[in-house]
Amino acid sequence: MTAPKYKRVLLKISGEALCKPGTGGIDGGRLRRLADEVKLVVELGVQVCVVVGGGNIVRGTAIAKDSPIEESTGHYMGMIGTVINALAVQDTLESIGVPTRVQSAIAVDRVCEKFIRRRALRHLEKGRVVIFAAGTGNPFVTTDTGAALRCAEIGADVLLKATKVNGVYTADPVTDPNAKRIERLSFNEVIDKRLKVMDLSAVDLCQRNRVPIIVLDVNQPGNMRDVVQGKNVGTLIDGSES
Ligand code: UDP
Repeated sequence: MTAPKYKRVLLKISGEALCKPGTGGIDGGRLRRLADEVKLVVELGVQVCVVVGGGNIVRGTAIAKDSPIEESTGHYMGMIGTVINALAVQDTLESIGVPTRVQSAIAVDRVCEKFIRRRALRHLEKGRVVIFAAGTGNPFVTTDTGAALRCAEIGADVLLKATKVNGVYTADPVTDPNAKRIERLSFNEVIDKRLKVMDLSAVDLCQRNRVPIIVLDVNQPGNMRDVVQGKNVGTLIDGSES
């Protein structure tokens, strides 16, 4: 078996990855498939963290629009949505024998731990998957930024950004048959061309902390394991000028 290229990885999944397209809520089948993919990576002996979004439940800006809800309240609601998703991911992973801990950036003491960096590191060393909930704990940003922040804090070797398509393409691969996968991009290209890979604040944090990003489709069985083993899957974004 190929030795893993990375020792500690952070997977960022959006809330929408947990529900059927165009719906909201949480779909058991999608949860199970995702957990199976995470387990394949854990079985390589790699330390895994997961940052889960909340778009399937609440997006702060959207819920506050044309409503009496203040935008900051909407963002707090969004963060609470990510805690709901984190609990769902936790139970699903544990149902297939993967030990986990959920750590939240906002205190929800009865349901999960608070984010404590050194404690998270200890969990990882013990082989537990650490699921980070509530993003950064602050309104007006997204869980992409939360993921980049946690990568820097816990020293992740790579941020795996799960998307619907397998990487960044020259055009939309869903509508354009000539669209080609871009194997490698630099942080500067992503920022300068405003490529919609992740929030710019997240890309900036990764660049400054030298955390490479790999954009990939985790719905393709074995894809995440292949990436962790260094195979050419998805799009690698790093400090190199291509
Ligand atoms: N959110 C926030 N601060 C954070 C992370 C998230 O206020 O650090 C709120 C924000 O309103 C966001 C919502 O939580 O829209 C859900 O997160 P996100 O949109 O990142 O979820 P995803 O798109 O990944 O499903």
